[in-house]
Order: sequence, then C-alpha cells, then structure tokens
Amino acid sequence: MSREKSQQVFARAQQLMPGGVNSPARAFGAVGGQPIVIDHADGAYLVDVDGNRYIDYIGSWGPMIVGHRHPEVITAIQAALERGTSFGAPTVAENQLAELIIEAVPSVEKVRLVNSGTEATMSAIRLARGYTGRDVIVKFEGNYHGHVDSLLVAAGSAAATLGVPDSPGVTPGTSQDTLTLRYNDVAALEAAFAEHGSRIAGVILEPVVGNMGCVPAEPAFAAALRSLTTEHGAVLIFDEVMTGFRVAYGGAQTLMKITPDITTLGKIVGGGMPIGAYGGRQEIMDSILPAGKVFQAGTLSGNPVATAAGIATLKLLRDHGVYERLETRAAQLADGLHHAAQAAGVPHQLQRVGSMMTLFFNPDPVTDWDVSSKSDKAQFAKFFWGLMDRGVYWPCSQYEALFLSDKHTEEDIAQTVAAAAESLQDL
Ligand SMILES: *Cc1c(COP(=O)(O)O)cnc(C)c1O
Repeated sequence: MSREKSQQVFARAQQLMPGGVNSPARAFGAVGGQPIVIDHADGAYLVDVDGNRYIDYIGSWGPMIVGHRHPEVITAIQAALERGTSFGAPTVAENQLAELIIEAVPSVEKVRLVNSGTEATMSAIRLARGYTGRDVIVKFEGNYHGHVDSLLVAAGSAAATLGVPDSPGVTPGTSQDTLTLRYNDVAALEAAFAEHGSRIAGVILEPVVGNMGCVPAEPAFAAALRSLTTEHGAVLIFDEVMTGFRVAYGGAQTLMKITPDITTLGKIVGGGMPIGAYGGRQEIMDSILPAGKVFQAGTLSGNPVATAAGIATLKLLRDHGVYERLETRAAQLADGLHHAAQAAGVPHQLQRVGSMMTLFFNPDPVTDWDVSSKSDKAQFAKFFWGLMDRGVYWPCSQYEALFLSDKHTEEDIAQTVAAAAESLQDL
C-alpha cells in the first residue's frame, strides 16, 4: 500500500510543529517509520490521505467507543452548533451531562466539567491538597495522569516510550511532594503510609492501567488503597480518564466495588470532543470555588458542542446493550490473538479488561512497570508494522492499550486475527 501522501504531509508537519505532531504518541516514535495522516473515519474504520482503509484499534486513544461519526452524536453536535459554539455561561446541557455522570459513577455526587483529562487530574490533586491541607501525593510507576508537572514522574506510555520519565522543565521543587510507588505493591503502600501518613493528601492511580499496557489493580492492592487512605484521612483518587465508561458504564470502580473519594474522567465523556471532568463526594467537591476556596476555572469549560457530544455518547452507552456486544467481540479478539501468538511460538501475555487489552511480548504476567518495561519492543515494532501493512491500525507502542468500538464486527475481528497470525509468524 502506498503511503506517499501521508509522507508528504508529515514532512511538512515536521517543519511546522515539534516532531510534526500535537501530541507525542502520534509520532510513531516507538515503532520507527512515519505516522499515517488521516483523511476521515467511519464506524470502526480510518481512511488515510492516500485512500488506504484501516480497522481502527485506537479510537482516538479511547473516546470513540460508539464508533466514528455515529449518526446520533453527529446530529447532537449539529443541533448544538445551530445554537452557538460557546457562551461562557450556564446551559441546560451542562446539567444533563452532570446528571448522566452522577447517575453512572458511584463515587460522584457532584462534578465539575473541564476541557481535558490533564485538567481533570491537575484539578483533582489540587482539590485533594486543598481539602486535606496536606502536601504529598502518592502515584504509581507506569501510571499516566496527563502532563501535570507534579505527576510527570515515572509516567508510563508516551513518556516511557520516549525514555523521558522525568521531563525537563519539571522542577525538583514541583515533584518533591510526589511519592512514587510500585503498582500492585501492598507492602510498599503500607510502608509509605506508616512513614508519611499524616503528610499524604491523596493517592492517585489508574484502577486499570492503560498507560503501561493493560494492567489491572489486584483486589488486595485495591482493598489496601481504600483502607489505608480512609485510616489516614487521605483522599483516594481514581483516574478513570481511560476506564470511565470503557471497562463498564460506571467505570472500573463498579467492577472493583471500591468507591474512591474523587474520580477523574475524560476521553469517552466528551464523545470525541475535548472534555474532562472530576467529581466525588459532595463535601469534598464543595471545597471548589465558588462553593469553597480551592481555585479552578475554565473559559470554555462545559462547552455546549462538547457537552452535546458527551450526552449523546453516554445515552447510547447506557441504553443499547453496548457493553455486552463489546465483551463478546473483545473476547473473540483476545482469544484469537492469544492462539495466534501461541501457534507462532511467541512468548506473550494477553491482558484484557472489557474492551481494552494489550498483547505484551513478555513471558511474565505484567503486574507493574518493572515487568512491563521488560517487554520485547523490537518484536512489538515488527508486529505493529505487519498489522499496518495488512490494514490494521494498532496502538503504536507496547505501552498503550488497544480499544474496541461498538462498530467492530465479527468479520473485522476475524480479519484482524488473520493479519495478526501472519505478522506473528513473520517475527
Ligand atoms: C489520557 C489520559 C489522561 C490525560 O487526558 P488528556 O485528555 O490527554 O489530557 C489522564 N489520565 C489517564 C488515565 C489517561 O489515559
């Protein structure tokens, strides 16, 4: 397949934007070669500027769970556009999206809308600190919470892929109040609370990590998080920017039956438009200005076009049996990949929660960053290009999870498994 036009556009992009992209994961840095440039998308497919069609397993890194250009989402966006693109004032749609979020996510009694996942986590840790009057935030290696300065320590995915876990420009002063522990390590968590318990404002984690590949929190770890934070008066923050409305309608917390104090959301909640949200116990949320004193604001927050896309998407997810279909298709894909890798004699782990999963080129079960980072990246890169050349658009890093949409058909999955089997045989 020809990628000539993509190459031309990307060559120009590199003169105009750092690395040719507006977000680093898009640059294919981990797999070599150049990204394809997208012309348009439809359902489960992407079409590049050369006219090549790909089955899409990135879904804009998560948001496109009902598929690209779902007619109901497009209609909702068009109707919102007719009334104006931004008012900087209250709207009915904000109430509607807030109601949908509060009904869906058990921990959320009140919610604030922002413009990205990064804004949500940044605001959530400020809230945790403001509410508790303490400084220290605990995070975990390989967990990514957006490009918030104080959380850009051992931050998985793009940061790990590029080998810059600590970014230049993040001062030691900023990161000194961030305590980084190993994921799924109960003993390390207990030791941290024993030593610093009275200084810990909050603990933030991805309840199912997507940003070191798909790595779920083990039940004992999740239980320890809840009991230790409660015991020491710290705020437990579930970063569900990726998992919210993905692994289940109410997020990972409904699967784990653990209620955090604050939840951050993004990606799906905006239906493909830029939105983030953070919410939690009313008492904590009422610390935010103007109800309380913790400052947080946004000119475009609660934007009417973005809220329209979010409302339409959440209603589709709530009312149409989407998660049952996703589970069936995801299981089909996971089984197919696992058997293909087995047949090719490739050491691997297939880790999946609902419609997010990772095929790790790793002989050991991946429970933390130490294990994940030992995956065979050269094998992954070869596998990735094998898929691309067969019309399958896969996450371009071993440390990213793939996502299905409700538009992936049984036929799409079968085609993908066949492409994967061939690519794995070629390794
Ligand atoms: C994507 C992501 C973020 C950041 O969201 P942006 O909208 O890219 O700023 C934060 N946390 C998690 C878990 C994510 O997957």
